[in-house]
Amino acid sequence: MDASRRRLFLVHAPTPIERRPALDEIVGAKVWIKRDDATGGAEAGNKIRKLEFLLADALDRGAEVVITCGGLQSNHARATALVCARLGLRAVLYLRVPDPARAARELELSGNVLLDRLAGAEVCFVSPAEYRERGAIMEHARGEPEAEGAPAYVVPEGGSNGLGSLGYVEAMREVRRQLDLGLCEGLRPEPGGARFDVVAHACGSGGTAAGVALGAAQAGVAREAWAFAVCDDRAYFETAISRVAAEARGYDPSLPPLALLDPSAGARVAAAPDGAAALVVDDRAKGPAYAVMDLEQKRFLARVARRTGLVLDPVYTGKALWGLARAVERGDVSADADVLFVHTGGLPGLLAQGEELREALEER
Ligand SMILES: *Cc1c(COP(=O)(O)O)cnc(C)c1O
Repeated sequence: MDASRRRLFLVHAPTPIERRPALDEIVGAKVWIKRDDATGGAEAGNKIRKLEFLLADALDRGAEVVITCGGLQSNHARATALVCARLGLRAVLYLRVPDPARAARELELSGNVLLDRLAGAEVCFVSPAEYRERGAIMEHARGEPEAEGAPAYVVPEGGSNGLGSLGYVEAMREVRRQLDLGLCEGLRPEPGGARFDVVAHACGSGGTAAGVALGAAQAGVAREAWAFAVCDDRAYFETAISRVAAEARGYDPSLPPLALLDPSAGARVAAAPDGAAALVVDDRAKGPAYAVMDLEQKRFLARVARRTGLVLDPVYTGKALWGLARAVERGDVSADADVLFVHTGGLPGLLAQGEELREALEER
């Protein structure tokens, strides 16, 4: 119930808010970029905002071991591994792979999983079927260290629970301070303080979406939050994000309730009730599969890098910004909108997908 919970200071804050004018033409609306890919060094990205709260809680509870999970190229697992090394905690990572026996034989050393290994994390491979039981597997895994007297702390997938999402409530308060200092060059002034029409970002486990939607509404940072799903579907994330948001409001009752809106402007009959946090989950940009882009999305990612110097990643941010451009094209986001795009990181995952991008690079 304490809005000013103890937190660690891991993020190089405030992260800049930048304009890249060439991006406006690519997206079709005016875009500012919140550089949360620059929250730190190798541990950078959105996950350390959540870990500021989660690992403070772990330390308060006397944990010596932190257990978490993700895909093989999980940015969350990598950030957890690196921060645990810094804090003197043991990290145990349950990573999803198609074939655990083969993954154990042919230890991949690229991108995030290379950094996990460098940080000395204990890596355990699990199959997609086992991964569906990740909650039970991680709870069970506490047994071993705890039998040896080392308290363990389980961080859920993506750090996405109510406590973790407070990291993005705090990030939106950071944006409010940047707005008040006039650091968002070119934003329309408004009585009562400048704000964005839309704040948009990639959504993979829902914690960022819950924190951004609640925090942006409370701090008056944006009228609407758009979460672009990179897997699963809209119904799945509406449920997941609502659950995380309810937990977050348990920690901080001053946060507003969530109002879910339809991504299609034509179907959006009702506006969000006054004071509610308007959230749109858009699952039309997720592409062929988790961590897989289609050729159009790959070409988009390459074009953004070439024209703006901004490097997106193929799992999250590339799909989300592509999805934003499609939403503008369809008229679901107005071409007149002022949009804050939260760049949530993911560079190590891009560096593990060089081969997959070859065809998009050859194209000019
Ligand atoms: C994890 C991640 C996301 C999604 O955040 P969630 O809180 O898991 O929904 C977006 N972008 C990047 C680069 C990530 O690593």
